[in-house]
Amino acid sequence: MLEVIDLVKAFGGVVATNHCSLEVKPGTITALIGPNGSGKTTLFNQISGLIRPDGGRIVLDGRDIGGLTPHLIARAGVARTFQITRVFPSLTVMENMIIASHDDDDEGAVKKRALELLNFVGIHDKRDDLAGSLSYGQRKLLEFARAHINRPKLVLLDEPFAGVNPKLEEKMVDHIKEMNRQGITFFVIDHEMKIIMSLCHPVIVIDHGEVIARGSAAEIQGNEQVHEAYFGR
Ligand code: ADP
Ligand code: MG
Repeated sequence: MLEVIDLVKAFGGVVATNHCSLEVKPGTITALIGPNGSGKTTLFNQISGLIRPDGGRIVLDGRDIGGLTPHLIARAGVARTFQITRVFPSLTVMENMIIASHDDDDEGAVKKRALELLNFVGIHDKRDDLAGSLSYGQRKLLEFARAHINRPKLVLLDEPFAGVNPKLEEKMVDHIKEMNRQGITFFVIDHEMKIIMSLCHPVIVIDHGEVIARGSAAEIQGNEQVHEAYFGR
């Protein structure tokens, strides 16, 4: 579904993405892990169009989407959430959902879909509250629901479990599994090996902006290079 080919991105002297090549197969929940600063978020920023790659290609279902605007990439079927949630605090929960939808969609249908999604994540009773009044966990749920408003085929989740309590963590895992059953492919950045073991296959490991390993969670855990990347320096 998604192919990243020889991708390069530097910020001044910092090479954040270093000839990175990887693949996300359709129907998978693929994990992206790596030490802090290894370039995970930068990779997501390029796939979703927030920053332009310096070189290489990003191919979605055979179509080159590298360097397109975020709007066009969303249209191509890619949605994402952020490490630090980005909801509009002075808009209501419902408005946050609607503003993310493609502008040519039928308004009634969008509202219906928005309500279904808010219901799905369990915050429909908050639909008329300002997003700024939501708890941290509720914002994570709103972002997750919002990512699905345009029926994407690929959803990028940047640390969906960070700072989330165990109960909500369990909920998020269930939501991801259910959406995956409905046909959505996930690419998930996270740190918690326990969750990744139960949720993701395969796991891709990056370090210094390049892929150093790929395999099942069990394979990755036994990989010496991965161990070195996390603990060696
Ligand atoms: P991760 O998400 O794996 O923790 P990032 O992708 O956020 O890592 O960062 C990778 C590297 O790129 C880091 O060295 C970080 O400081 C640098 N970096 C990321 N974004 C920018 C930016 N906008 N400007 C300058 N440097 C950046
Ligand atoms: Mg990050």
